Amino acid sequence: MKKERVVIIGSGPAGLTAALYTARAQLAPVVIAGAQLGGQVAITHEIENYPGFPDGLSGPELVERMKEHAENFGAVVEFDLVDSVDFSNGSPFYIKTYGEEYLADAVIVTIGADPRKLGVPGEEEYIGAGVSYCGTCDGFFFRGKDIVVVGGGDSALEEGIFLTRFATSVNIIHRRDELRAGVQLQQRAFNNEKINFTWNSVVEEIVGGDGGVNAVRLKNVLTGEETIHPTEGVFIFIGHDPNNAVFGDQIALNENGYIITDQRYRTNVDGVFAAGEIQDEIWRQVATSVGQGTSAAMAAIQWLEANEETLQELEAAPA
Ligand code: NAP
Repeated sequence: MKKERVVIIGSGPAGLTAALYTARAQLAPVVIAGAQLGGQVAITHEIENYPGFPDGLSGPELVERMKEHAENFGAVVEFDLVDSVDFSNGSPFYIKTYGEEYLADAVIVTIGADPRKLGVPGEEEYIGAGVSYCGTCDGFFFRGKDIVVVGGGDSALEEGIFLTRFATSVNIIHRRDELRAGVQLQQRAFNNEKINFTWNSVVEEIVGGDGGVNAVRLKNVLTGEETIHPTEGVFIFIGHDPNNAVFGDQIALNENGYIITDQRYRTNVDGVFAAGEIQDEIWRQVATSVGQGTSAAMAAIQWLEANEETLQELEAAPA
């Protein structure tokens, strides 16, 4: 079992920034990177709105730079997944990964959120063969093709507009007749000649063959009528699900499953902090995650300083 001052769960912008700050505070943080270094950012083709990079840069490059930056100050990045945690006895917190067991004086949870799935037949089968959750990653493969986008929020419209760079047509399928997206995005989508809408409809099945997707089976939720809509690409943007499974009922979550934090990024467990998309279901930007990771790290550093005496007594006490 390894004893650490700080363990950071997750390696997206929030986690790597928290690693940088806690490393600079001489805490030698351990980052448990998860399945993919950088999380969702790692699959982002180009980031054009991260300040200081006027020419943009790719998600993997940004993440690699953040990792190197944190490591330069003593952070350790482990390519491992958390299996379970036990926060019930307070600090030090027990964390079991597939390769190691840790006791950490403080924990910063930055484990992020994953794109929500439709859960219809054909979806899993055709991921990478016509089904995608990332326009910036996969749009290029749909040059000159007719594609559909599922969802009616900001992501669906923003990505749908982006996908018109490649696709011949983008049909946005929405389950209601009113969009959730902001009005400006709506106007841009309505004004885009390549975009059209199928209202009050849900995807019942993604249909394909050896060559990948060739259609979606749609159902009109008002009339019940089913139609087959030919398409070679299905881009799904129906929200995200926070990666909370490993915490069970050990951290307080909101009604959507996101970790509840206060202004200092404290969770309801004293000594456990959270930052980035595991606790932010609104902003979801690299820049906001970086800011939150900074705040959570500073809060954790202050908390460790304030509790130094108690933590030392606990460490000295016989097991
Ligand atoms: P969202 O706002 O939750 O929208 C999800 C959309 O998918 C909704 O239209 C919803 O329909 C639909 N949906 C959900 N589950 C579905 C299902 N099972 N089948 C069919 N449709 C389903 O998610 P988001 O668009 O990813 O945005 C998340 C947050 O990030 C939002 O706060 C958004 O403002 C923000 N964001 C901002 C920008 C920007 O400002 N440029 C860009 C992207 C995201 P209903 O409308 O009927 O619920």
